[in-house]
Amino acid sequence: MTDLYGLTRPELNALVESWGFSPDHAASLWRHLYLGLASSLGDLREVPARVRSRLEAETRVGDLPVRLETASSDGFTRKFLLELADGARIETVLMRFTGRATACVSSQAGCAMGCVFCATGQMGFGRQLSAGEIVSQVVRAARVLLAAREPKRLRNVVFMGMGEPLHNYDAVMRAVDILRDPSGLALGAGRITLSTVGVVPGIRRMADEARPIHLAVSLHSADQEERALLVPAARRWPLDELMDACRHFCSALGRRIFFEWALIEGRNDTADHAHAVGRLIRGLPAHVNLIPLNPTAGYPGAPSRGEAARRFQRVLADDYGLPSTVRQRRGIDIGAGCGQLAAPA
Ligand code: SF4
Repeated sequence: MTDLYGLTRPELNALVESWGFSPDHAASLWRHLYLGLASSLGDLREVPARVRSRLEAETRVGDLPVRLETASSDGFTRKFLLELADGARIETVLMRFTGRATACVSSQAGCAMGCVFCATGQMGFGRQLSAGEIVSQVVRAARVLLAAREPKRLRNVVFMGMGEPLHNYDAVMRAVDILRDPSGLALGAGRITLSTVGVVPGIRRMADEARPIHLAVSLHSADQEERALLVPAARRWPLDELMDACRHFCSALGRRIFFEWALIEGRNDTADHAHAVGRLIRGLPAHVNLIPLNPTAGYPGAPSRGEAARRFQRVLADDYGLPSTVRQRRGIDIGAGCGQLAAPA
């Protein structure tokens, strides 16, 4: 059965028209999905019974049931354990900030990249998510905000949940097209960010296809050998190839890149490390996101202290003119921070 949340608007139109029905019925259905945030065909009253019965026979609304919902003690972060149709489980996070909210979505059940400090990497790869399963996570987050009478707050979507999004390129980009549609969730210019561990072919393809989303690259080390210890995927796509791809992205699209750096106490947080990353990305339009390491069961490292983070920022700014931000630590108490998602059975 076709998952309606996996279809772009032109595909939905084509499907409905292929049945010999008016495009107006496709428009009604699209509104039901993305303005009504439907979890089923349920109260779809705007279409005639013959259209509805065809929909019920051949399609489904791929809503993902919530198996567990947890809220951080400060009330700003909610984490959802969602079950897929085959029983696989993923996690999605909704973060509220002043006047806006961000949905952090998963692109895979598990992950094959094996970053040593990441709970998803520690669990291994399960399977790829479909575009519908990705879109459905955002609809879930939007529905929570609608119920709280805050429907306009969903401003951003970040592909920073479980999985490496460029390892599931086609489904992720299809989901992006659906999320960006101006007559639907309308997550347009600058509101979607994809974070990659450095899948070089995917970065190049994003640039060549001029994908209109922000790119964040997880660096964590400016030294190939050291980086490969933290991020095993670096053996397949070494640092020099990764930086070539980043330069290609910036020059092809005229856009900056966000570089992410998990600050691990005593491992990659000294002034020397800051100089190394400054030299590595100097000349690129870049912003560095510093993320004090979040704890996971399978990695013994500790987060850097505030003074180390400030020293790192000073070196980047004073010696290389690089802007940086220390990411707010959100949802750590419920395992919803960066690198903490793991989808328990
Ligand atoms: S950090 Fe991202 S790419 Fe690395 S293992 Fe975790 S989910 Fe996969």
